[in-house]
Amino acid sequence: MYINNCPKNNPDPQGGCVAKFLGRFPFEPMQENPLLGPSSSTLTKMGALRCDDVVNRQQGWRLVTCNWLHVGIVLFLASMLSLVTAVNLRDGSTLSVDMVVVGIGIRPNTGLFEGQLTLEKGGIKVNGMLQSSNSSVYAIGDVAAFPVKAFGETRRLEHVDSARKSAKHVVAAIMEPDKTGEFDYIPFFYSRIFTLSWQFYGDNVGEVVYFGDMSGSAFGAYWVSKGQLVGAFLEGGNKEEYEAIAKVTSLRPAIEDLTELERQGLRYAVTVSQKPAVSPPVEVRASDLLLEKPLYAWHATAGVIIAASIAAFAYFYGKKRRRW
Ligand SMILES: Cc1cc2nc3c(=O)[nH]c(=O)nc-3n(C[C@H](O)[C@H](O)[C@H](O)COP(=O)(O)OP(=O)(O)OC[C@H]3O[C@@H](n4cnc5c(N)ncnc54)[C@H](O)[C@@H]3O)c2cc1C
Repeated sequence: MYINNCPKNNPDPQGGCVAKFLGRFPFEPMQENPLLGPSSSTLTKMGALRCDDVVNRQQGWRLVTCNWLHVGIVLFLASMLSLVTAVNLRDGSTLSVDMVVVGIGIRPNTGLFEGQLTLEKGGIKVNGMLQSSNSSVYAIGDVAAFPVKAFGETRRLEHVDSARKSAKHVVAAIMEPDKTGEFDYIPFFYSRIFTLSWQFYGDNVGEVVYFGDMSGSAFGAYWVSKGQLVGAFLEGGNKEEYEAIAKVTSLRPAIEDLTELERQGLRYAVTVSQKPAVSPPVEVRASDLLLEKPLYAWHATAGVIIAASIAAFAYFYGKKRRRW
């Protein structure tokens, strides 16, 4: 409030500073800050959190300073009275805590479609062509519950990549239904927060195997379910490494030894992804056997026969001429 100095910086506001008797410490006018505190420009100057400043202007110090700022005395008193010291769990037990992290999700508003379309898993159930139970109505993005082939079940995915790809697919399904196959999507999620950037592919079920240095720049995890690698997460990878975890997840390789997987870490995904794709076994019939002989052998045999024929012809022709 000393820096804010309302009487000097806001000398003639309508209604004036609040509690003028405080000298240079009065609060901003109620129109400016109804919580009884400084102006927003003072808060910015003192280190308020502005994502744009942190991300684009390298002002990471705001992450620390913002914790010590109060927008006004009203909020200050409210937060003093709202300190969380414990959490009561459903089973009746109590956990003492210093801090609570709240996970906020979304719930699609499907009320409009109740009784009109088949709903499943909190969304509109669609088939592989993203058609709902009314074939003229399609659903995509967060609200669509679609068959995920890799998992053999219907899922609703709340990620921007799935929203974009399902939008692209539905356009093709409507415009060219005969040329468009079923939506085949491996769940993918990416996000970025300040200097952190991660990607996740597949499913986070089964046993988790962590790898990398959690205090360093690159680390991740694999999920192994029923002996198969079904999901992979990577923080701080490069393009090739992200492509590797995407590929290894789509291949769903069998995993026998979790300790070995942990030891190999990211190297496992990179190695598996670099292996050439195994071609499907070819059925060989008796009639195909001749074709199985490599082509260069035919060329060599034909070449030898032609050369021998020319040599024989030249020999007899030469002999005949000598007789003439
Ligand atoms: C806080 C938050 C953070 C997220 N972070 C990430 C992330 O880091 N990475 C990631 O991959 N995904 C993230 N997501 C998820 C991602 O934003 C969604 O998956 C994606 O936006 C879904 O796209 P959509 O088009 O299906 O739905 P939406 O983007 O929600 O679009 C639906 C639109 O329909 C409009 N609408 C709704 N009802 C009606 C109506 N009756 N009439 C007309 N219009 C209507 C809504 O206003 C909205 O504009 C995040 C989501 C949230 C909420």
